Amino acid sequence: MERAVSPSICPTCGEPNACGMSQGKTECWCFEAQIPEAALARIPAEAKDLACICPRCARASTDARPKSS
Ligand SMILES: [Zn+2]
Ligand SMILES: [Zn+2]
Repeated sequence: MERAVSPSICPTCGEPNACGMSQGKTECWCFEAQIPEAALARIPAEAKDLACICPRCARASTDARPKSS
């Protein structure tokens, strides 16, 4: 089942992502934010470059760092 990617919805949690681009602005908090690779990895391929994740998801992945050592 295909779902259209909405630029204003976080692709990882389905909540509004507060992205500046989706609000008609030319910049977004995500340009400055350090999005951890763990968060980027959770973005579905079809949503990449189309929808930003929300600040909460970006931060959540920073806190919940998998123990790799
Ligand atoms: Zn954004
Ligand atoms: Zn989210």
